[in-house]
Parts: sequence; C-alpha cells; structure tokens
Amino acid sequence: MGRVQDKVAIVTGGARGLGLAIAGRLGAEGAVVVITDLNDEAGEAAAVQINAAGGRCSYMHQDVIDETAWVTLVDRVVAQHGGLHILVNNAGIAIPEPLETETLEGWRKTQAVNLDAVFMGTKQAVLAMRDNGGSVINISSTAGQVGDPIMAAYNASKGGVRLLTKSAALYCLEQGYRVRVNSVHPGYILTDMVRDGLNSQGPEAWGKATENIPGGEMGEPDDVAWGVLYLASDEAKYVTGSELVIDGGFTAR
Ligand code: NDP
Repeated sequence: MGRVQDKVAIVTGGARGLGLAIAGRLGAEGAVVVITDLNDEAGEAAAVQINAAGGRCSYMHQDVIDETAWVTLVDRVVAQHGGLHILVNNAGIAIPEPLETETLEGWRKTQAVNLDAVFMGTKQAVLAMRDNGGSVINISSTAGQVGDPIMAAYNASKGGVRLLTKSAALYCLEQGYRVRVNSVHPGYILTDMVRDGLNSQGPEAWGKATENIPGGEMGEPDDVAWGVLYLASDEAKYVTGSELVIDGGFTAR
C-alpha cells in the first residue's frame, strides 16, 4: 500500500518543475493524479512519464486564473474518479521587478496567478471535500515569509497564500469539515523558474543566490515533493494551518 493509496489528487502547474516532482511522488505512492497546466504538450508528456513509472496519471488543460475552469475541473475529476482528496495549488509565476519599476499590470498578473488562483482552488476543493475530508496544500515560498527587494509583487502574493491557508484551515475546523489546509515554503529549488529568474538578472545573480543559502546549494524538486506527500497523507491528520519550510536553512538565520 502506498502512503496516499487510491486518493484522488489534482496538481496544478504539474507539467514541469516542482509540480511534476510532486505529481510523480504522489503517483508513486498510489494516488490517482490529475495534472493541470497551460502547456499541453509538456503536461501530456508528464502524465506519460508518471504512468511509465507505474503511476495512474492524466492531464487536463487549465488556466488557474479562470474561475469557470476551476469549477469545470473539480466537477470533472469528481465525476471521473469518484471524489477529490488532495489539491496541490502549485502553479505560479515569479517575475523579478523592484517596487519603483513594477507596474500595476505586472502586480495584478502576479496576484492573479499566485494568489487569486489559490483562493479559487482552495474554495472549490473545500466544497468538494467537505463531506468526506481531504488535504489542500498551497505552495507558497520563503518569499511568503521574508522580503526580497526585487520581488514586491511575488512577496505580496506568497505572503497572501500563507495567511489565506491559515484562514481556510481554521474555517474548516470551525465548520467540522475534515479538510486540512497547509502551506509549503520552498527556498531556492533548481527549476526553470529559478533558472530563468536568475538568468534575467545577469551573471552575478547566481553567486548571490547561493551565497545566501547556508549550505551553499539549491534544493531539488523532490525535496519539496516529499514534504507535500507527507501533508497529503493521513500521517499528517493532525497537521492543519501549518507552514512547512523546505529551504536548506535559508530562513533560519
Ligand atoms: P516552473 O515555472 O518551473 O513551473 C510552473 C508551472 O506552472 C509551469 O508548467 C507553468 O506553465 C505553470 N503555470 C504558470 N501559470 C499557469 C497558469 N495560469 N495556469 C496553469 N498553469 C500555470 O516553476 P516551479 O516549479 O519552480 O514553481 C512551482 C511553484 O513553486 C510556484 O508556485 C513557485 O512560486 C513555487 N516556488 C518555487 C521555488 C523554486 O525555487 N523553484 C521556491 C519557492 C516557491 P508554463 O510552462 O506554460 O508557463
């Protein structure tokens, strides 16, 4: 038996990076996984990869900023698989921009993908899970706990995810729903997002980033996937409203 055997999971932004690792880990531990993303080719390939490793995975297109698409997705998953037990709100964007040059348009785009979408997903998941229980895992960031001078919009969105999570967790407890809601706070994990972000800031950015990590090394996507697996599983039945920091000690100082 796997640690999330036969649970039905949705992982947003699952075509690559952390989402792909999370979907793979849940699939390897027995979950039926639905990956969603904007990138259909990569999403389909991710599902094939997970199934080749023995998982049960399918892909559905979803733009997480579209509320109707959230309702359709959750309805389809419940109809096809008989329920929903795990939602990982993972899709996100990180566009470095200091306060003085950030535009309202850029700010709103970041809030839409990183925060509005997490609100919509958490709401739809709670509606689907409230009778039978479940686990919602919101991927925030260490940038949701500490500031970064060139990430005003990202910091705000991820800080919002942190407290939305706590509010939703308390609401579910108050209502008597067995729905746990937790946030995960990765530090620097080497994915396309980090690669593209650092490359856009010039050659010195890589050195500066690793200098700030006490062990001097970035994490791997699987480091985050193991933490998500724990929160998704019944091993975490008493864990809700919490923040799981996976950052190689970045915020410990
Ligand atoms: P990537 O950019 O590598 O992957 C993100 C995925 O989300 C992509 O497949 C992307 O699709 C998808 N996506 C983006 N916007 C949407 C949307 N509107 N609807 C559906 N899917 C979308 O990022 P990471 O794997 O690095 O990051 C995953 C999450 O982890 C993010 O929330 C990020 O903020 C968070 N995080 C990452 C850290 C890191 O160090 N990597 C650190 C802390 C937090 P497409 O390819 O089409 O853009």
